[in-house]
Amino acid sequence: MKTYINPEESSWPKVLERPQFNLQELNRKVGDILNDIQANGMEAIRRYTEQFDGVMVPELLVSSHEIDEAAAQIDIRLKEAIQQAADNIRTFHSIQHPEIRKTETTPGVVCWQKPVAIEKVGLYIPGGSAPLFSTVLMLAIPARIAGCREIVLCTPPDKSGKIHPAILYAAQLVGVTKIFKAGGVQAIGAMAYGIGPVPKVDKIFGPGNQYVMAAKQLVSLSHVAIDMPAGPSEVAVMADESAVPAFIASDLLSQAEHGPDSQVVLVTNSRKLVIEVEQALEEQLSQLSRAAIARRALENSVAIVLDSQADMIRLINEYAPEHLIISMKNYAEVAEKIINAGSVFLGNYTPESAGDYASGTNHTLPTHGWARSFSGVNLDSFMKKITFQEISRDGLLNLGPAIEIMAAAEELDAHKNAVTLRLKSIEDSGKQ
Ligand code: NAD
Repeated sequence: MKTYINPEESSWPKVLERPQFNLQELNRKVGDILNDIQANGMEAIRRYTEQFDGVMVPELLVSSHEIDEAAAQIDIRLKEAIQQAADNIRTFHSIQHPEIRKTETTPGVVCWQKPVAIEKVGLYIPGGSAPLFSTVLMLAIPARIAGCREIVLCTPPDKSGKIHPAILYAAQLVGVTKIFKAGGVQAIGAMAYGIGPVPKVDKIFGPGNQYVMAAKQLVSLSHVAIDMPAGPSEVAVMADESAVPAFIASDLLSQAEHGPDSQVVLVTNSRKLVIEVEQALEEQLSQLSRAAIARRALENSVAIVLDSQADMIRLINEYAPEHLIISMKNYAEVAEKIINAGSVFLGNYTPESAGDYASGTNHTLPTHGWARSFSGVNLDSFMKKITFQEISRDGLLNLGPAIEIMAAAEELDAHKNAVTLRLKSIEDSGKQ
């Protein structure tokens, strides 16, 4: 990790720069694959699966036999852990159900909005370098609570054409309706256009690598809604001398091991802590199975020392991290001042892994600074809201004149007429 001591504020954007992709080249490449899939359907999906995942998959749809087989392979302790995580995720997302509240905006004019589930949703579960079965829980559980009728899941097959048993087990446990062996751009194209056995969905959810993220953004221009840009993972840790260096190193590494394009940032007012964290990183790296990936991610990562706590907070709000861990004495006070972050973890005993797996909050979160304007996935993401209004005769008498004046001012005569005709009919009926 590169260390900066009290960098000038004007240099913060440069210091906090995320790993860059050549967006033009990426969008061109992904756009070509999407066009090919649209034109050539299943043949293109099979061809790209062979090219990128190294396997020819004759059947995309996972059979019930494969699902049963997977369940038999899962260790009972993992099943119990998945159940505990699923229960917590269900509890946390169930309380997000919005209330329907009717309001009388003007006497006789009643308005309300009703949340309605999106009918068909597509879930992308990354599978390239790690089988993220936890993401199945994070996406399918709120989809079920919202009441989505069709919940389709796509994930890349391994080299033998199989899907990790834990992904299949989690998917059947939480009520996914169909599971397909398709990854990357192929999966996003299949769900956006409806190719072969994969139904066209109304909204696509889920994180993925830069290809997945670019494909989601491209199909969202004309075919389907998407949850948000959720790409390579990142964490920022704010720490003071009350933090435990080994804990911080473990949190930084838990992001770094996601992929070489992940980024971790340590912001502290203690120079001593940076040295101790660096030592702990080296010790822990040697124990990790994905040390090579984590080391590459650490090359994109920075430690920043800022003497002022106010500066630390401003810098974090400028970075807008996907995950933020606050390991500081006054973490509650600092947390109040955070305005840009996907998910925040407070105190020394709240590792990010808790939110990644089992505490109940959602781990599908906005990356790359999108936390400035996007929320992570939540129950609302699986719903749209329809507004209703009911106006009585008295209500129209009260509101009608304002509508007539505004419509006339916009020179929209038919709009005005829709009110005038009704007001006239009310007036006429009053005369009889
Ligand atoms: P993935 O499933 O996202 O990508 C694998 C697919 O990428 C392959 O199936 C293949 O089709 C495609 N691909 C690979 N090389 C390609 C190429 N050269 N051209 C076109 N397509 C290609 O799995 P992954 O690669 O392991 O990435 C998972 C990502 O998800 C990581 O970056 C991780 O940080 C991120 N993630 C983000 C969140 C979040 O909430 N933001 C959560 C979990 C994971």
